[in-house]
Amino acid sequence: MSRDTKYSIKNLQKDFPTDEACLAFIFDTLHSHKCSCGGEYRPVKGRKQFQCSKCRFQIAPASGTIFHKSDTPLTLWFHAIWIFSNAKSGISAKEMERQLGVTYKCAWRILSLIRKALKDENKDKLGGDVEIDTGFLGGRHYAGRNNEKLSESIAKKAVVNVAYERGGRIVAEIATDNSSESMRGFVEKYVSQNARMYTDSSRVYHQFNERDIEKVNHNKREFSRGTVHINTVETFFAHLKRSMRGTYKVLSKKHLQSYLDLFVWHYNNRHNDRERFAVLLGTVLHA
Ligand SMILES: [Zn+2]
Repeated sequence: MSRDTKYSIKNLQKDFPTDEACLAFIFDTLHSHKCSCGGEYRPVKGRKQFQCSKCRFQIAPASGTIFHKSDTPLTLWFHAIWIFSNAKSGISAKEMERQLGVTYKCAWRILSLIRKALKDENKDKLGGDVEIDTGFLGGRHYAGRNNEKLSESIAKKAVVNVAYERGGRIVAEIATDNSSESMRGFVEKYVSQNARMYTDSSRVYHQFNERDIEKVNHNKREFSRGTVHINTVETFFAHLKRSMRGTYKVLSKKHLQSYLDLFVWHYNNRHNDRERFAVLLGTVLHA
């Protein structure tokens, strides 16, 4: 592998030209070539199996992975993972169908399996300087000519809490509502106790100790005061909203968390295309 951070379709086709190459990669990732009997595992020709040269024990490398029981060729699966890894603004099943030349049903299944594999497994709490913000997503519900349905319209939207450790990673989660209680739950779950928090002047932060928190006052048209700002989380929200409009025509609350996970994942792996593909492949295999 070169030290280049790019990873093009040519790189993909060179690394994984055939189903055998993909299967060998899966085997290498999940199993050892040495059998406990002293023999060595080798691919069985024409089958998705590896067999020990001495005791004849067989291993199906794809079993237990998302590739198991799939008629889709592994090269196509890897191609799908590559597309997903590059789709920084998300990708719809329709688009996946077009790019892979598979049926819509197949594209949808591949996408949802990759998304499911992608849940952020990092349980470390965010520390140091942490920006926190809340946003409203989805539910383009008509508020009425005189806003008479405004509260109904807001209720249709999903509340999303976001926290970002400066220089580190971002977490995003759908909240039950825009209340102090749900914000407290979010902070307790994801932010370490000795972190310094940066927020806007929303009432949901009134409960926190003033010593631990620095607020920018958007109402007074203040957007930053030295290091006191929430620019990164606000940029994250802007990008999220724009991409969702472009990519997903209909957004259901039910699927929003998995879309969020996708965004967060891309954000946290944004620096290197090659690494992002490798991380995604590894994550999918171990899911
Ligand atoms: Zn053996």
